[in-house]
Amino acid sequence: MITPLEQRIVEQVRVLRDDMIGFLRELIQIPSVNPPGEGYLDCACLVGDRLSALGFETRYVTATGHPDHSEEYPRVNVVGRLPGRSPMPTLHFNGHTDVVPPGEHWTVDPFGGEVKDGRIYGRGACDMKGGIAAALFAAAALREAGVSLRGSLEFSATVDEETGGFAGMDYLAREGLISPERTSYVIIPEPFGPGRICLGHRGVYWFRVETIGRTAHGSMPFLGVSAISQMERFLSRVSSDLVQALRARITDMPVDPPEARRATINVNGITGGQTDGNVGSPCVADRCSAIFDRRFLIEEPFDDVKKEIETLIANLTAEDRDFKAELTDLMVVHPVETDPDTELVGTAARTIEDLTGVPAEHVASPGTYDHKHVHNTGRVKQCIAYGPGLLNLAHQPDEYCEIEHIVRSCEVMAVTAARLLGVN
Ligand SMILES: [Zn+2]
Repeated sequence: MITPLEQRIVEQVRVLRDDMIGFLRELIQIPSVNPPGEGYLDCACLVGDRLSALGFETRYVTATGHPDHSEEYPRVNVVGRLPGRSPMPTLHFNGHTDVVPPGEHWTVDPFGGEVKDGRIYGRGACDMKGGIAAALFAAAALREAGVSLRGSLEFSATVDEETGGFAGMDYLAREGLISPERTSYVIIPEPFGPGRICLGHRGVYWFRVETIGRTAHGSMPFLGVSAISQMERFLSRVSSDLVQALRARITDMPVDPPEARRATINVNGITGGQTDGNVGSPCVADRCSAIFDRRFLIEEPFDDVKKEIETLIANLTAEDRDFKAELTDLMVVHPVETDPDTELVGTAARTIEDLTGVPAEHVASPGTYDHKHVHNTGRVKQCIAYGPGLLNLAHQPDEYCEIEHIVRSCEVMAVTAARLLGVN
């Protein structure tokens, strides 16, 4: 059921539609490509100026001291707070301003923000400048509708999500800006579509395995031990033993696409021995290294995930005393999932159904996003991703977002905010 006040909020979203798309065009026109992290200050100012105009107390939080922060590529985040009659509850909207490099095969300008056939095109249109525009204009619609919120509303636009988010959302959480004491709910408008609520994501374990051989003259390879052959043995053991076992493990989380409900492993890269163009060094390779990307399920304890790799190495070592390999952890992200029975998920789901007439769908993400920092560093339990666009179009040439998606998500976010925070 929609109340007359909520109806007024929805009408204001429709009134603000052109302004919202104009703002989004401007944001897309800033090529905030990461790496290396261009245009962050411009993005922060564009969002910050709007926040200030909407009455938010706005501050810029620069991740000085972070290794990727430099004078040339400053890591600038912006945070705004619109205090309600009481400090809590607080709803925090967070979007990342960085985009991945455009790559090739575009038929439109990736930084043009071109609008045609009801879509807006450009790098970041769906991942996730469209979401930033929708969330920001949800705040604008509340204001235009004359809504005075009981709780407080916050908004942040942060950097570096595409490279881990450590100078962005993780930094804000470390600064105490995302914490149970000041944050009740977080909505991250990543592109899952206006009818879907993303509850969390699988875990990530990046690791390196390096095999160590013994060099010898390439004309007499029998005198050495090839690290490349040893890697081949390790890789075939991964395929024969591990991949089968992983396929049999299926999570209860509603990961979409459903194929990603299984645990997976990918070899991201491999290097060893003589490199291309380096003709004329007839040597048996004494080093070979491969980087692996293991995605693990919320049902799999991380210690077991790592132990499995250690066991593969130990078995090969036991079978052949020439086999030597070292395992190095590169990155561990633990899986996260917000309980579907929480206030945030329930309110967002009811609002989606009230506004679209269709029940909300719960999903989980195959890859990670800034939810991990909200949960692990910020210790805030109620966090969802909800926003316009289709995940399949993210990081692709001719990325676009349906304008109707942006408008619809904006309505849902505005009404969800009013319901969660209460109105005076
Ligand atoms: Zn994203």
